Amino acid sequence: MSQRFQSYINGEWIAGNGSEPDENPSDLDRPVGEYGQADAVLAARAVEAAAAAWPKWSLSTPQQRADILDAVGSEILARKEELGRLLATEEGKTLPESIGEAARAGQIFKFFAGEALRIPGEKLASTRPGVDVEITREPVGVVGIIAPWNFPLAIPAWKIAPALAYGNTVVFKPAEIVPGCAWALAEILSRAGLPAGVFNMVIGAGRVVGAAMVEHPSLDALSFTGSVPTGNGLLRQAAARGLKIQLEMGGKNPLVVLADADLDKAVECAVNGAYFSTGQRCTASSRLIVENAVYDEFAARMRKRLAQIKVGNPLEAGIDIGPVASLAQLETDLSYIKAGHEDGGELLFGGERIEIATRGHFLEPTLFAAKPEHRIAREEIFGPVAALLRADDYEHALALANDTRFGLCAGIVTNSLKHATHFKRHAQAGMVMVNLPTAGVDPHVPFGGRKGSSYGPREQGRYAVEFYTTVKTAYTAA
Ligand code: ADP
Repeated sequence: MSQRFQSYINGEWIAGNGSEPDENPSDLDRPVGEYGQADAVLAARAVEAAAAAWPKWSLSTPQQRADILDAVGSEILARKEELGRLLATEEGKTLPESIGEAARAGQIFKFFAGEALRIPGEKLASTRPGVDVEITREPVGVVGIIAPWNFPLAIPAWKIAPALAYGNTVVFKPAEIVPGCAWALAEILSRAGLPAGVFNMVIGAGRVVGAAMVEHPSLDALSFTGSVPTGNGLLRQAAARGLKIQLEMGGKNPLVVLADADLDKAVECAVNGAYFSTGQRCTASSRLIVENAVYDEFAARMRKRLAQIKVGNPLEAGIDIGPVASLAQLETDLSYIKAGHEDGGELLFGGERIEIATRGHFLEPTLFAAKPEHRIAREEIFGPVAALLRADDYEHALALANDTRFGLCAGIVTNSLKHATHFKRHAQAGMVMVNLPTAGVDPHVPFGGRKGSSYGPREQGRYAVEFYTTVKTAYTAA
């Protein structure tokens, strides 16, 4: 019998309307399960449940919150293989990547279990005699979480865990194509000892459920990860009603390869950053900027390495890249491959769909020699398609790296301390990688970007406290 994924509101499972298939992008004839859509009324009910639960939960002890988050983290870690299998089937990441993501989600809950016990504050001497000043942090209130599909366990975890750790209540709206992972996470949270209404999860369309959440006057803050148009629309709505908001949107991340680089390392960084997880990471290296002196050699080695990459069912051993996550994303990827040809790019590798034994959204890793003005070198694609750009020297490479409206991550492969140091300071990005792929970050340090990539405080690590708490300054005369 097919599994039905439900919403979780005020401590109850709610079926929602109709029955939509939860697609398996590797095998379209065998869906993962089915789900019912929540509507705007249910979304409002979830916000109201979270608002009703907040006064008491905001006064819960840090130990109570730490124990719950720790238990959630332990269960996720204990079940990482099973959760990873669900993720690989539903989203299409390879099984090792999926198990790694599940483990990451568990570690994040455990990290914030610790942070619940370390909520920072300060005490300062006042400028006036006999007065003390205390600076403390309090929860914000009801936090809305709107998440994308590409990290369906880790991204919800890095938003839900800090929200709960600092005493907020939560309404979580997962992306439409990953209701199974959202349901699995909610099911674990539903048994962890949270009072009804503290955590709610609403499955439904962004335009319906997401919009109803944002419009609800009881929502106090919104953390969003997703596309640029949706994020910018939410920012306008948030500004109009004074809602605290944090946005993580796209990237067009450069990986610079200098002539002095270890080329084997450069190729591995490029292949990992551009193509692993099917290129569906906001930190993916979609622009490979290579110094002229090694450009031809790098291009030749990339072709050779890409020919070894195995695309197929992510549950099978030895597969490097799974399917594109949805038909809509596949169509976007193919339209950019077309744009690469139309704009005059030279196809160096891939560009075609792949047929395997099951019907799925498989695509070859694709590399174009491109010019900086080409669409594939300017717009976020979010698929296994990268643009190779030629740079005259380091200064030209840096200028090309920064020539984008995005600023999430930037990477450089070099053996020059001088250039690595200069790049770390001058790359216009929130995160910089030296001799590493642009994708692949630690969970205990800040994550986020600049320019058009992000808005608001950083996520993850101790920096998450900025978004999920509000500061109070208290003066006391003895
Ligand atoms: P993608 O193109 O990667 O799916 P989206 O920005 O459309 O990116 O989706 C990211 C998240 O935002 C999803 O959970 C989606 O349902 C939600 N979403 C989409 N449109 C809206 C909207 N108008 N209001 C609120 N949330 C939305």
